[in-house]
Amino acid sequence: MELQIYLNGKLVPKSEAKISVFDHGLLYGDGVFEGIRSYDCLVFRLMEHIDRLFESAHTITLKVGMTKEELRDAVITTLKANRLRDAYIRLVVTRGPGDLGLDPNKCKAPTIFIIADKITLYPDALYKKGLDIVTVPTVRNLPEALNPSIKSLNYLNNILAKIEANNSGFSEALMLNASGYVAECTGENVFAVKCGELLTPPAYIGALEGITRHSIIELAEKLKVPFCEKPLTRHDLYNADEAFLTGTAAEVVPVVKLDGRVIGTGKPGPVTHKLTQAFHALTKTCGVKYKL
Ligand code: PMP
Repeated sequence: MELQIYLNGKLVPKSEAKISVFDHGLLYGDGVFEGIRSYDCLVFRLMEHIDRLFESAHTITLKVGMTKEELRDAVITTLKANRLRDAYIRLVVTRGPGDLGLDPNKCKAPTIFIIADKITLYPDALYKKGLDIVTVPTVRNLPEALNPSIKSLNYLNNILAKIEANNSGFSEALMLNASGYVAECTGENVFAVKCGELLTPPAYIGALEGITRHSIIELAEKLKVPFCEKPLTRHDLYNADEAFLTGTAAEVVPVVKLDGRVIGTGKPGPVTHKLTQAFHALTKTCGVKYKL
């Protein structure tokens, strides 16, 4: 059966899930989104994702036109329609169709769509070996210009960074802010471990407040791993004992090399391992359940 897409209140087959070329999500990147995972019929932290979506929408004065509960039900309906136990879910709200000017007031109603599909997992070897990443010249958007806490459809800043990493033969990029502090990667938050302490930059440095990041911080507290949120430089990462990235799609990925400098032993470390195990356990318990 063809994949069923939720589009503006209805389920439609993938081949018929089309939006207007006048949609401002397409013309201007004017919209917000979430990337969500379901694990064995449990949508991990679904309400937290919906809360973040509403916050992003509020900041860009985009009226979602559905309640949080209606959106939750729409996500579950989409998963059920496609009989998916484990999925990657893309929830998107755009400004909707308007005219060729960028004035959002000309857009009458938002476009809402939900794609739930099978996930393509990163290869196992990546998690065992760890990532080798590079710092790129493109800095993260200035929070004063476009706050990285808004999960908007405008990802060119991150895409430019990805292109720079790819051009240098790397698959992931470390992005700094305009003052040279570590911000995040193109789609993941960054953590370091130094002398047993877990470190991550505060969101005001220029990072998205990741839901995986938040889960890892909670787990660190539970597991009595000392934690500190503070600005980090590349020097801090080069000289860390361990480093890892967090994101919904990637989960927890160890980083073993940055800009040619080996981090710690050059292998995924024990704190990363402990937090990864705890994170996997959390994905089995924390979220909204559904039945197929
Ligand atoms: N930073 C950026 C720029 C992202 O796009 C994402 C989500 N892919 C993250 C961090 C991680 O956030 P989350 O853990 O909520 O997926």
